[in-house]
Amino acid sequence: MGAHHPEQPARLSAIQDQLIASGLDSVLTRFEAPLATDEQLARVHPQDYVRAIRDIAPSAGTVHLDPDTAMNPHSLQAALRAAGAAVLAVDLVMQDKVKSAFCAVRPPGHHACRARPMGFCIFNNVAVAARHALHAHGLERVAIIDFDVHHGNGTEDIFEGDDHVLMASIFQHPFYPYSGTDNPAPNMVNVPLAAGAGGKELRSAVTSAWLPALEDFRPELVVFSAGFDAHTEDDMAMLRFTDADYAWVTEQVKAVADRHAKGRMVSMLEGGYALGALGRSAVQHIKVLGGLN
Ligand SMILES: [Zn+2]
Repeated sequence: MGAHHPEQPARLSAIQDQLIASGLDSVLTRFEAPLATDEQLARVHPQDYVRAIRDIAPSAGTVHLDPDTAMNPHSLQAALRAAGAAVLAVDLVMQDKVKSAFCAVRPPGHHACRARPMGFCIFNNVAVAARHALHAHGLERVAIIDFDVHHGNGTEDIFEGDDHVLMASIFQHPFYPYSGTDNPAPNMVNVPLAAGAGGKELRSAVTSAWLPALEDFRPELVVFSAGFDAHTEDDMAMLRFTDADYAWVTEQVKAVADRHAKGRMVSMLEGGYALGALGRSAVQHIKVLGGLN
């Protein structure tokens, strides 16, 4: 996104550093993310949109897709690999080769709408994961859990009214992108939180809104939009989650996945800009995903 931008490569090394420091690194299996194909992207984005992104990708310098979202000569590859990671993770989990998967990817995806890049996002990675599970693996019901501090307006744009997907989200409001307060369709469970809210409000929202909806829905796969920017140390926003809150919320969702989805979970990195908090919180989340807590 440019020099000194919070959506920076150091985010992924911060996660890697904490995986090593926590000892988790030695028990994880790593996979290289493949490039998503146009066919996989076209389940989410119109072909014209994918073509336009390919065409605008610069061979030198930087182009801005919107005021927040830029591409340099490496961005197209990164965006295709982020979406490709979603596909590979779903394949691995569905083929029972791994129990669950975390995708440490950039750029993030949950603000990318059907035909519009936005908020550092180019392709909607969780949407690519969900549609791949539905179309390539024949699932009927996929739940998307979004605990990023920003509302996943792109994911909502793609799935509102789609009975095969339930989206449960929590986010600061009023705040960028200023959407999500109305549930536009029964498959959207949005819980806006006021600035200053923390673990207590998270617990109340998950227990009273998310879990009953998830139990009714009986997902066959759970996909996380895992953003860690609601952390109290993250000055991108004003929620006050702690490292332990990320373990707790993952445990609640894992219990649903264990009951209905054979424990299948795929998690895609979204936001999280305070590097220390990002690394520690991601480790808490990954520990629970892998049943290693
Ligand atoms: Zn965010």
